[in-house]
Amino acid sequence: MDLGLTGRWALVCAASKGLGLGCARALVAEGVNVVVNARGEAALLAAAAELRPINPLVEVRSVVADITTPEGRAAALEACPQVDILVNNAGGPPPGDFRQWQRSDWIAALDANMLTPIELIKATVDGMVERGFGRIVNITSGAVKAPIDVLGLSNGARSGLTGFVAGLARQPRLAARNVTVNNLLPGAFDTERLQKTMAAGAAKAGRPLESVRDQRRLGIPAQRFGNADEFGALCAFVCSSQAGYITGQNLLVDGGAYPGSF
Ligand code: NAD
Repeated sequence: MDLGLTGRWALVCAASKGLGLGCARALVAEGVNVVVNARGEAALLAAAAELRPINPLVEVRSVVADITTPEGRAAALEACPQVDILVNNAGGPPPGDFRQWQRSDWIAALDANMLTPIELIKATVDGMVERGFGRIVNITSGAVKAPIDVLGLSNGARSGLTGFVAGLARQPRLAARNVTVNNLLPGAFDTERLQKTMAAGAAKAGRPLESVRDQRRLGIPAQRFGNADEFGALCAFVCSSQAGYITGQNLLVDGGAYPGSF
């Protein structure tokens, strides 16, 4: 299927590794020019070097910046001639017990996982409306639908974004102008973040990493972790010209892990 995206421009945030990079790979393969962003220069340059040969016809620009800062967002936006596609992503907040969290911990989580996406949407959505095409995809978490107790900062901040998006996406000003806003909710994906989380869990419990990994994996009906390319493929479809009638949705990608009917 031709996704009808050739020549579009995308800003893919937090994209030197993991799910963000998976989305960038899929968009580049579909002929989308991308601006990829991350904080670490070496990993970001490596990611850009990996992206370019996927499709020599597209332009790949990289912006080293912390996307949760106003300066970082300005630099990322500046590098993108026009944002047709915005993939919002950033690192997830740390796990913990809410009794230990201070106001500053909550503000950091809200900044990264709620207010940064909202600021980037604010900066780009009106241009999308004017041009009659826009795709906004927020990478959130399966924890929005099935909260995980130790991820209270994530559950809270991402639910705030989800509520905001639910209202925004349904504004006829956007939806009737072919501008969609959707959230992708990853379950367990085999990225650096998941590997680090499992290694920390194994060390804390004094258990071998392999046994912690297997226990987690076997709790998923698919009996495996997801990979960033299958996540990216869904992102590319949600951004496609065919997906203009899909908006305001929370799409779980979790190998069947969420146990409910809806
Ligand atoms: P990852 O650690 O593999 O990659 C994160 C990427 O974000 C890296 O490129 C990193 O450099 C970049 N990044 C982090 N903070 C940034 C910032 N402030 N500014 C710019 N770039 C930044 O993580 P991942 O597994 O790809 O996860 C992506 C998002 O999805 C995270 O918010 C994570 O919490 C969420 N998530 C992941 C999973 C999973 O299983 N992997 C599950 C649920 C939710």
